[in-house]
Amino acid sequence: MRLKNVPGSREAIAESEYTIKNEESMKGKWHELFGNNNPIHIEIGMGKGQFIMEMARRNPDINYIGIEKYSSVLIRAIEKREQEPLMKNLYFIRMDAEYIGNVFDKGEVAYIYLNFSDPWPKDRHAKRRLTSRQFLKRYEEILPDGGGITFKTDNVPLFNFSLEEVEAAEWKLLNFTRDLHKSEYNEGNVMTEYEKKFSELGNPICRLVAQKK
Ligand code: SAM
Repeated sequence: MRLKNVPGSREAIAESEYTIKNEESMKGKWHELFGNNNPIHIEIGMGKGQFIMEMARRNPDINYIGIEKYSSVLIRAIEKREQEPLMKNLYFIRMDAEYIGNVFDKGEVAYIYLNFSDPWPKDRHAKRRLTSRQFLKRYEEILPDGGGITFKTDNVPLFNFSLEEVEAAEWKLLNFTRDLHKSEYNEGNVMTEYEKKFSELGNPICRLVAQKK
């Protein structure tokens, strides 16, 4: 993905009350931030945040945390978030998900969403893909028994790879479709920015739901 540098985005993120700055010190204490024991769902690589904002609106009894590596993208989510100060169940972290185990305790995250994750097409970069076995291992560390992931993409090679990785990691594949919008699973689907863009171009959207072993 090409990223524009957005001047001042790092500073704006540092100032926003909706971004967590000392995320590693929150490990094991995320429920205190929300002031309740509702389950915590995270989206990794949330981009400009359209999906997670809508999920937080629809599900006030679930706490959401959006994770994004780049300030220039995160700033767009923060701008939207600031329009909804009454929303109490959504925060953001600017970080690389590789270090997610430093930020959440065992079982602290009930569910993980991965939407249109970067494909990293070169074989030697496979372990950077957010659905690689290396990342699934990291997710195992923070999910409770019965926890899982939902992954959407229009990228067929990445989707095929992800199905293989779920199997290699011995996760349980609960369901999958190669054309979400025409499938029985589309009801209640919340579109992401990329999903809208690519489905308008005519690309079918693939989705898998998997549960940790
Ligand atoms: N999820 C959004 C959507 O569907 O519209 C954005 C998709 S965009 C292609 C992928 C996003 O994931 C980018 O904003 C990128 O910066 C972020 N990302 C990629 N690898 C990441 C990582 N290791 N940790 C955190 N964010 C990451």
